[in-house]
Amino acid sequence: SERNPAQTLFMQAVTEVFESLEPLLAEIPDIQANAILERISEPERQIMFRVAWVDDQDRIQVNRGYRVGFSSALGPYKGGMRFHPTVKLDVIKFLAFEQIFKNSLTGLGIGGGKGGSDFDPKGKSDGEVMRFCQAFMSELYPYLGEGTDVPAGDIGVGAREIGYLSGQYKRLTKRFAQGVLTGKQVGLGGSLARKEATGYGAVYFAAEMLATRNDSLEGKNCVVSGSGNVAIYCARKICELGGKVIAMSDSGGSIHDPAGIDLDIVTSLKEVERARIQEYSNRRHGSKYFEGQKVWNFPCDIAFPCATQNELNAEDAKSLLDNDCIAVVEGANMPTTPDAIALLRKKDALFAPGKAANAGGVAVSALEMQQNAALQNWSFAQVDERLNAIMAHIHKDCVFYANKYRRPDDYVFGANVAGFLKVAEAVKSYGVT
Ligand code: NDP
Repeated sequence: SERNPAQTLFMQAVTEVFESLEPLLAEIPDIQANAILERISEPERQIMFRVAWVDDQDRIQVNRGYRVGFSSALGPYKGGMRFHPTVKLDVIKFLAFEQIFKNSLTGLGIGGGKGGSDFDPKGKSDGEVMRFCQAFMSELYPYLGEGTDVPAGDIGVGAREIGYLSGQYKRLTKRFAQGVLTGKQVGLGGSLARKEATGYGAVYFAAEMLATRNDSLEGKNCVVSGSGNVAIYCARKICELGGKVIAMSDSGGSIHDPAGIDLDIVTSLKEVERARIQEYSNRRHGSKYFEGQKVWNFPCDIAFPCATQNELNAEDAKSLLDNDCIAVVEGANMPTTPDAIALLRKKDALFAPGKAANAGGVAVSALEMQQNAALQNWSFAQVDERLNAIMAHIHKDCVFYANKYRRPDDYVFGANVAGFLKVAEAVKSYGVT
């Protein structure tokens, strides 16, 4: 922490992984001897840059851009870009660190990276978002490449932003942005089912986890925080598998709809109208909006945090447990605080960490890269089937390592060990780099 002052989120992510790995250290002395932990927790490169752009009032605005290439041990840096006013180096470093293990878990050849800016797309016109994206890419493009660094979307970066970033990359390099960005529009090198992948993947993981207790999503009441890309497709898949989503949210508050949330309304509000979730209660009889409230107080069987980091704390976990919630599945990155995880585990609730449960998004990004390289376009069903198989495999790996070290049902441990071992092997094989 002396080397990374005030990087509390990054320290939280590193501490969680390192504490998990303790039982391994005794058994595999190589980890210490090769300074694997020291090397794995120091980013290979961190790029920060000024992004100057002109708003609709002809004023010059200045934001800060970031791209952290944390580990290329398993492949080119891969991870999304986040545009949100809370973005700072700490946020990008924690996300990039998590990404290393998540990407390793997918079994595909991708390293860990993450980027973004403190730019807030909310309330900006299309023209402003475009000019910002163009200025951002003008600074970032020299560092990208299909074998080097391949960004994607995250909070605040969806198909619109990836389109503008791709356009500027093409303008500057005279090359199609095919191999250097994922999450592209279908028809412009994007993969079918990429938009759905993170949310669907989290639910596939949940289904695998419930199956270990001879249970399923059928008839389960679920709450999903957020109403963005991950949340919407997580909610859709829950319904497809027989569950019911009774609450969703955004940073303003939560909607509760005991009859089951109408996802067409939410999708239209969020993907088309870019409106607030509050508007849902005006359109759907029997639903209610709760200003400033999180979704964890509504009684449910399964909770899916799909908005942002540290959004589910110990008090929220207690409320979930008081209502007999049986599982928490992270669609977002690090949404559950360490004390909340400890509480859930103590009461034997199933807990799926994001680095395992939300790996479906980056997995399909890697499948997008494969399709681009082979000049192919796979069908939705083909991609979805691969996604489901990848999530089942990640689940199997987590269970294998949890059982091997006599920590049944400890998915945090299983995911950290499974993700770490492959990266550690690669780091060792490269010699001192
Ligand atoms: P979106 O921008 O599409 O949606 C984010 C949602 O979370 C919005 O509803 C937003 O509400 C809410 N939110 C954001 N910040 C806060 C906050 N500080 N407090 C409360 N609510 C907040 O992002 P994504 O759905 O893409 O990402 C959500 C999470 O999933 C993130 O943790 C991301 O890192 C993770 N993730 C995303 C992947 C992807 O493929 N997109 C892949 C793997 C992980 P509002 O509109 O009010 O801000």
